[in-house]
Amino acid sequence: MRLRAWKQDHMLKIGLTGGMGSGKSTVARIFGVLGVPVFEADAQAKDLMNRDPRVREAVSACFGPEVYREGVLDRKQLATLVFGDEARLASLNAIVHPAVRGAFQAWAMAQQAPYVLMEAAIMAENDGFRIFDRVINVSCPEAVRIQRVMARDGVGEAEVRARMRHQASEDQRDRIAHLRIRNDGSELVIPQVLAMHEQLLQMAAA
Ligand code: ATP
Repeated sequence: MRLRAWKQDHMLKIGLTGGMGSGKSTVARIFGVLGVPVFEADAQAKDLMNRDPRVREAVSACFGPEVYREGVLDRKQLATLVFGDEARLASLNAIVHPAVRGAFQAWAMAQQAPYVLMEAAIMAENDGFRIFDRVINVSCPEAVRIQRVMARDGVGEAEVRARMRHQASEDQRDRIAHLRIRNDGSELVIPQVLAMHEQLLQMAAA
């Protein structure tokens, strides 16, 4: 990463989102190769549900202590409890999302870089995106995303559609985005990421 004069309090916080199968993890990996610190919200959420005492307590209080088996979260059991139950899903999100944002802020403070990225599938669904200086949306039409997830995970179309049901629409994500990476196969992704990296470095140095 190019070194420039920048201060910790000027470090930019960038949100990277995209629908399921849009390729946001792929794009995040490219930023990672460029030396950009990347915080993976999904992985961190899993970790917090297992390791953060306050999150564990809140999850146990909400869903029953039996969701932890021998101290480890039984994700299948939790998924069964929230599946198709909007209120329970909202309760889980109300516990996990603020904890993830807090962990991201603490993590960002410890980074030495002009900008850092948080990769998260869920960003347009609540007002959590407001913590970012800029939001990047990795865009791709739903039909292509469904095909990719079917191929990646070896599952059928109905299952992919069911998983996507709780995600914001392409339009909602586009509305909160300041920057866009098109990953529908019509444009090469690496040159788009390189150009955006330059743009973000310039923004951080301004
Ligand atoms: P999820 O939200 O489900 O984790 P994601 O947005 O992180 O999905 P990826 O896992 O990065 O998406 O990509 C989905 C699949 O599509 C992967 O198998 C990936 O290798 C593939 N893929 C990503 N970009 C492209 C592309 N431009 N062309 C073809 N395949 C792609």
